[in-house]
Amino acid sequence: MKPELSVVIPVYNEEAGLATLFARLYPALDALQMPYEIIFVNDGSRDNSVALLAEQYRQRPDVTRVVLFNGNYGQHMAILAGFEQTRGEIVVTLDADLQNPPEEIGKLIEKMREGYDYVGSIRRKRQDTAWRTVASKMMNRLRERITNIRITDQGNMLRAYGRNVIDLVNQCGEVNTFVPALAYKFARKPAEIVVEHEERAAGESKYSLYSLIRLNFDLMTGFSLVPLQMFSMLGIMLSFGSALLVLLLLARRFLFGAEAEGVFTLFAIAFFFMGVILFGIGLVGEYVGRIYQQVRARPRYVVQTILQGMPGKETEEVPAGVTIEKRQVVR
Ligand code: UDP
Ligand code: MG
Repeated sequence: MKPELSVVIPVYNEEAGLATLFARLYPALDALQMPYEIIFVNDGSRDNSVALLAEQYRQRPDVTRVVLFNGNYGQHMAILAGFEQTRGEIVVTLDADLQNPPEEIGKLIEKMREGYDYVGSIRRKRQDTAWRTVASKMMNRLRERITNIRITDQGNMLRAYGRNVIDLVNQCGEVNTFVPALAYKFARKPAEIVVEHEERAAGESKYSLYSLIRLNFDLMTGFSLVPLQMFSMLGIMLSFGSALLVLLLLARRFLFGAEAEGVFTLFAIAFFFMGVILFGIGLVGEYVGRIYQQVRARPRYVVQTILQGMPGKETEEVPAGVTIEKRQVVR
């Protein structure tokens, strides 16, 4: 039977929390009384996650599918690979660490049934470290200003997407992207609801400060040219300013003769502008690097194996290491 709901979950080194996730997720979805499927995407975990996912697949092959990457391609690539496999009319994404309570999925579905094709969610009380909450607020504010994506809580992955949105996302070949923003672009009627948020059930965050900065660059450069335009504007203003300064110095040269004071002020100003220039070059580089990655058109991720199928064999024991479908490159 074709599932109505597809749940996509990226998994990267989550062995410590998977058992609890299974124990809460399946009953929560069973309670919804609609045909569903859960697609786990293993993003190259180096711990025992794959074995746990395969075991869970053996337990519930009727509703479980597992996509196995051959390496670590990042959370957003994992979600996109999951999207390609979805069959449901509604697709829900969720983190594997139980920070998004599976019991909240019902609320998303309810909202979707009111006729929306994108239901985002806002964490009622975010359970993360203080610095992340503050930094994330600032990034949300910046993104609101420089892109036309209107989502209140961008870092939150608990979201529901309609089939129309998913089909369009599946046609995109973006290498560096941010799934909630990309999907928002294609939504005809987006909405948001407030949901609960929990502390990470087990293990620790897979994002370092560095990878968080990279991710936010993906978001800003992927959905806006405003940073580049601001630099053009800044350049124009600085040119005007320095033209005025030249005129002033020229006038003083004639009025007061040669002057050589204020060398250090000049240094300070010069160093400041050097910093601005370096930042500008770096910013251009962020765009150029992404263009380079995009034009090389290498596979965005490689799916090693997909555990799925076995219709009608729900109760039978599935032998260990079974692979039903083999695929290679997916663009
Ligand atoms: N994740 C992933 N690949 C990565 C990093 C993270 O698939 O390279 C998954 C991770 O297993 C989890 C989700 O993305 O299901 C969110 O990661 P995490 O909870 O570490 O992020 P945070 O909540 O700290 O933002
Ligand atoms: Mg988390």
